[in-house]
Amino acid sequence: MSDEFKLRLKVLSALNSKACGAIAFQAAGISVMGYHYGYLADLVAQYCVDIKFGVVDPAASAEYDHTTDTLRFSNRNLGFYATPSGRAQIIHECTHALIDATHPGKPVRRSDNEFICWLAQTIYSLLAGDSVRRDGDFHGSLFAIASDAIRKRDGVFVVDPQAVSFVAAILRSADALRAKKAGKTVPDIELMDGIRCPRPPAMEPD
Ligand SMILES: [Zn+2]
Repeated sequence: MSDEFKLRLKVLSALNSKACGAIAFQAAGISVMGYHYGYLADLVAQYCVDIKFGVVDPAASAEYDHTTDTLRFSNRNLGFYATPSGRAQIIHECTHALIDATHPGKPVRRSDNEFICWLAQTIYSLLAGDSVRRDGDFHGSLFAIASDAIRKRDGVFVVDPQAVSFVAAILRSADALRAKKAGKTVPDIELMDGIRCPRPPAMEPD
């Protein structure tokens, strides 16, 4: 069994967990529901999402490439993906994949996308009984919003747009700083292209 196959099983087990299935919120007009993760688990099980070790962005510890439907993780120690931070990282990146899968052809603001993934991972960690950071504006806000989302019993929890823009602004400035250091420019808005399933056959040059 290859390590990448074992990593795929770790991703599936996080996606199929009770905690992940209980995630439910809406932010910036995007819904993230437990059953979406079940749908994503099907796409992962059918190899419509590529899962690889090694990241393209040297500043990232994990990433999702929506143009190739690929999840990449830098830590090659499989044991990491059974720890609270490893599982939270899986949920974060899978939420990027989920937004891509549920919004084909739709423009999504990068900072909203990032906010949603951070919130999903925080809700997941709380539901899984893992400890989460609460220090500072960023982690403190995420913790407060995630706690409210978990407390809501009826209907879908809609994140206050002001809270979204507050946290998204923190993420946007961090993103801009990282891009500047790398000498790149990043778009504010990205067009999601969905996850193709079954995957188209690889093109062979003639
Ligand atoms: Zn992210």
